[in-house]
Amino acid sequence: MKTLELVDINKTFYTELGELEVLKDINFSINEGEIVAIVGPSGSGKSTLLNIISNLIEPTSGKLVVNGEIGYMFQRDHLFNWRTVWKNVLLGLEITKNNDKNNEDRIKDLLNKYGLIDFINNYPQELSGGMRQRIALIRTLATNPSILLLDEPFSALDYQTRINVSNDIYKIIKDQNVSTLLVTHDISEAIAMADRIIVLSHRPAKLKEIIEINMNADITPIEKRKSSKFSYYFDKIWGLLNE
Ligand code: ADP
Ligand code: MG
Repeated sequence: MKTLELVDINKTFYTELGELEVLKDINFSINEGEIVAIVGPSGSGKSTLLNIISNLIEPTSGKLVVNGEIGYMFQRDHLFNWRTVWKNVLLGLEITKNNDKNNEDRIKDLLNKYGLIDFINNYPQELSGGMRQRIALIRTLATNPSILLLDEPFSALDYQTRINVSNDIYKIIKDQNVSTLLVTHDISEAIAMADRIIVLSHRPAKLKEIIEINMNADITPIEKRKSSKFSYYFDKIWGLLNE
């Protein structure tokens, strides 16, 4: 089943300086439980695309089909430093006025399963960048979305943390079977995490190619980085981005 489908999406911004054509005829879909990565040059329109999917902005033309709720996790974790971890993860439910006790139990299960339950009374600044990112993800998953949008979620982390956190986040996403659209400019991260990779051109972003990643989905992103196929995919995407 398709959780998300984009049909001929176009976006032009009209500003005082004139028209800026950002997205051109974008077509793709995401199947249930699939992780799709989007790679493209900086300024090509990746965040604009996520903003359209999450309904924050309207496309100029085209059709969007969304089956279910959307969870959106931004580049910075946006945890509130004056709220405890527990109060932070409850935020999504508060905003959506969701008082269902089952959801609180779900969140507790998630925190427990992913090693965060002992920290629920701590404040975000007391925790590592990697833990904060996992908490932000659990907060996003609290409302039980069927599609997760991740906009460069690891870019604020140092290299080693980034690799470890992407491994943890991958495990959570696959465990929870949530369809995911991951925007990144890191080719290796995209190959390590995604089932398919969409390569965008420079602005206005057109879809250059969709690449199927045929590596065993049961192995971790860190193990995938060591696979012999990894450099094949890297070369292919590098070539497309540098055409
Ligand atoms: P990316 O995420 O790929 O780096 P963005 O989607 O953030 O790129 O931006 C694509 C282009 O659209 C950029 O040139 C940016 O300046 C422009 N842009 C983004 N949002 C707006 C807006 N609300 N109004 C006008 N221009 C915008
Ligand atoms: Mg962006």
